[in-house]
Amino acid sequence: MSAAAESDRDRTEAEKRGGVVYPPASIAVIGSGQLGRMFIQAAQQMGYQAGVLSTTSETPAAQVANWTILGPPDHLPALRALADRAEAITVEFENVSAPALRWLARRRIVRPGWRTLWVSQNRHREKSFLARHGIPHAPWRPVRNKDELSTAVRELGLPLILKTSASGYDGKGQVLIERADAADAAWLTLGRTACVAEAWVEFAVELSVVVVRGSDGQSVAYPPGLNHHEKHILSSTTTPAPVGPIVAQEARDAAFAIAQALDAVGVLCVEFFLTSAGRLLVNEIAPRPHNSGHLTIEAASSSQFDQQVRALCGLPLGECKLGSPAAMVNLLGDLWADGEPLWREAMRADPGVKLHLYGKRTPKAGRKMGHLTVLDPDPQTALARALAARRALVRRSS
Ligand code: AMP
Repeated sequence: MSAAAESDRDRTEAEKRGGVVYPPASIAVIGSGQLGRMFIQAAQQMGYQAGVLSTTSETPAAQVANWTILGPPDHLPALRALADRAEAITVEFENVSAPALRWLARRRIVRPGWRTLWVSQNRHREKSFLARHGIPHAPWRPVRNKDELSTAVRELGLPLILKTSASGYDGKGQVLIERADAADAAWLTLGRTACVAEAWVEFAVELSVVVVRGSDGQSVAYPPGLNHHEKHILSSTTTPAPVGPIVAQEARDAAFAIAQALDAVGVLCVEFFLTSAGRLLVNEIAPRPHNSGHLTIEAASSSQFDQQVRALCGLPLGECKLGSPAAMVNLLGDLWADGEPLWREAMRADPGVKLHLYGKRTPKAGRKMGHLTVLDPDPQTALARALAARRALVRRSS
């Protein structure tokens, strides 16, 4: 086959139509947790046939998908089956291997592309990227050997946080170092694997911005949300964050700059620390919808999952304007410790509470089982109502 014919064969039908995919085409997501589930639900609402590449048929996304390919995300037969079924493919997590995405992208539309994921699936690459682009973030040093660990302690000061470069989430793969003589033992608990050491940030609050970039390079962003973490896991998000218009604009501008520098097509979340002096420091980038954006399902005319479908399919992006302030609280497996939560109580007390459950069969401490969203003209009242509903789930009369 000539090189021209080969490259023409590699271009997908959708690419020949300018990279646009209309319903009822089949589209898919790699990864089958709650993010994949909510992507599929948004896609189905728009009339797409939505499939998933999943390890088992019982996952949150596979339960609602029109079709499921069973297999790991970097398994060639599974990828071939996925490419046979879907015209366009996205991801719900960043740790899909670059070779797998490159292989798929030669056959189908894949958004975001492997280069975007490559940066954000490794903290060392992510921080180097931020430094290269002059985007403010906490001081850090690479730690790949004992000398680098000593240098990090000396140059960053204490306390500092050691984080594994690869595959950390929700505080996993992190350890706090408070004394220089405890540094080596702390690194050992992470298996002496490649890490980054990060200076401890005395932040006032944590914020995040969900930004969406289309295939034409145009971007839109939701107002920043205020995030509260417990044990390193997101507990609640309130939006808009009470940070004033200048900080809000700075956060959105940083998110736009990151999306553009990554050449991302799709949804991206940028998490920030805001110091008491009003400085914004980027903590983390997630090249996909984010837990802090779940409240856009009710609060915005286009949710982050609608936007993910629109960006993937090459459609014009929707609006990010909020119809109302909102709050979201997570429902972790801990709420199941004494049996099934009291749904009746929570839902009868305040009918404005929107319940989302992800269909996970086994509750575990720290596992995200669902969330609640409340809209209210006052964001603080929205949060208070959502927290009250969550408390009512476990209030048992003795
Ligand atoms: P991460 O997985 O890096 O997003 O960290 C999870 C949470 O740990 C963050 O949302 C913060 O609450 C906390 N954390 C992480 N890095 C730092 C830091 N350098 N200084 C202070 N707190 C941090």
